[in-house]
Amino acid sequence: MLNLVIFGAPGSGKGTQSAKLIDAYGLHHISTGEVLRKEIAAGTELGKLADSFISKGQLIPDDLMIRILDDMLPTLLADGQGVVFDGFPRTIPQAEALEKLLLKHGTELHGVIGLEVEEPELVTRMLKRGAETGRADDNEETIKNRLKVYHAQTEPLQKYYCEKGTYLPVEGSGVVDEIFGRIAGGIERHTGVKPRK
Ligand code: AMP
Repeated sequence: MLNLVIFGAPGSGKGTQSAKLIDAYGLHHISTGEVLRKEIAAGTELGKLADSFISKGQLIPDDLMIRILDDMLPTLLADGQGVVFDGFPRTIPQAEALEKLLLKHGTELHGVIGLEVEEPELVTRMLKRGAETGRADDNEETIKNRLKVYHAQTEPLQKYYCEKGTYLPVEGSGVVDEIFGRIAGGIERHTGVKPRK
């Protein structure tokens, strides 16, 4: 079993590299942002609540996010392949909860891939994605707040995971396949696990 967090600022390429990880290692995937966007699109109560935070570039409260993850974990872990956690954790309490939940299921986190990209490139990428996909929070004002929130609430996780010895920094600029090559190299050095393909 290989459980990985893909970590990085908004626009750092977590979604793109998650897709490659799932394919290469046969893993399951949870993107908490995607889960929330689906709820918004379906017009559920959870979606309405989530939208009130997402549209401002703020984080959804920890207790709610942790409950959502707790509900999904049994399915994600059922076949023992492993999971890519994309966009979770985003705060220290979420990281602590993830550790406890994985332990409850008899497993653990094997590595945290930290995609490191300079801020001007993050902004350029998100504006491009906004123009191409219409993603509502990829607009200039919300992006500014998402980056502020990232620095204040999410970036401290780098130190948290460094101290646990699970943080694997990866240069996140350049060609998608080259970045993935660096990720795979980091995983192999840290865990000994190689891609299946
Ligand atoms: P993402 O698709 O990961 O960029 O997430 C989009 C938005 O969803 C974020 O800006 C947050 O408002 C919300 N979100 C996603 N994951 C989390 C999380 N783990 N904790 C709190 N809010 C989240």
